[in-house]
Amino acid sequence: MEWTELRIRVPTAQLETASAIAGMAVSRGFYVEDYSDLEAGAREIAHIDLIDETLRARDRTHATLHLYFDVDENVAEARAYLDARLSAAGISYDVETDRVRDADWADNWKRYFKCTEVGRSLVIRPSWEPYENREGRKVLTLDPGAAFGTGTHATTSLCLELLEDACRPCDRVLDVGTGSGILSIAAALLSGGQAVGVDIDPLAVRVARENVERNGLSDRVTVLQGDLTDCVTGRFDLICANLVADLVIDLCPGLSDFLLPGGRFLCSGVIDDRAAEVEAALTANGYEIQARRQRDCWFAYLTTRRELCSNSKN
Ligand code: SAM
Repeated sequence: MEWTELRIRVPTAQLETASAIAGMAVSRGFYVEDYSDLEAGAREIAHIDLIDETLRARDRTHATLHLYFDVDENVAEARAYLDARLSAAGISYDVETDRVRDADWADNWKRYFKCTEVGRSLVIRPSWEPYENREGRKVLTLDPGAAFGTGTHATTSLCLELLEDACRPCDRVLDVGTGSGILSIAAALLSGGQAVGVDIDPLAVRVARENVERNGLSDRVTVLQGDLTDCVTGRFDLICANLVADLVIDLCPGLSDFLLPGGRFLCSGVIDDRAAEVEAALTANGYEIQARRQRDCWFAYLTTRRELCSNSKN
């Protein structure tokens, strides 16, 4: 059996909540490494008093959850869920991933990633899968590699569906946290305009650039490496951001510097516990919610910026 392991270290005081969250993220189960009750456990479970010194020396203040993922699961997407839920619960945590050295592992999940028709006009086609385009859909060819963004995760599919409604001809689109580049490429295909994708992760930037080239869009889609909007200049008709609640909230105040009059902001990756907070941040910063969609425990919003709309009429 091949798998990948995520190790999540949490304070023992928050172990119960963290375990409940971990249980929702894995289908294969997990185990907990916790030395906080070592002496009592040794007596009650193993019926011994003598405990090895290396065990006694273990950190009693933190526990580690070991989560195992099957070869067909996209660990990046499970990780996004865990990040969102653990942060929402106010748990301070560290995550380590164990790379399984089996040469086939990195590619095995590809067997489960199939062509996916999205909304009225898009199809996400894995680069290794044929697709018979009977309905004349816009074909987005993708190899996400280790980057987030296959289109199958609820946060991405919600964005793609909202993008279809939000994109207008020749729109200039900014995609914050581009991952595999999926939203930038979709925006360019839907609007026929230009898109800029930005991501903090160099691996995602490399993957996104390859995907842009794969779709023959190098002249219309640019991918930049950087934190949120720090490397971006200019203004856009539409900004999309599939991040996590905290990052969406952080983005809200400064985003107007990047939006053209009448601009739209599409955000996703908002876990249900944080939806009210994100909605409040959007409204406080002048964004009017035009559409709110939910899938599983995730929310996505299409908004327009109020002041800019009214300014544009003056
Ligand atoms: N846009 C893709 C999609 O919709 O499937 C990927 C979204 S993934 C949930 C979030 C992406 O945001 C990751 O690729 C991550 O590296 C990137 N990211 C996280 N923090 C960021 C930051 N501060 N600035 C830019 N990108 C960031």
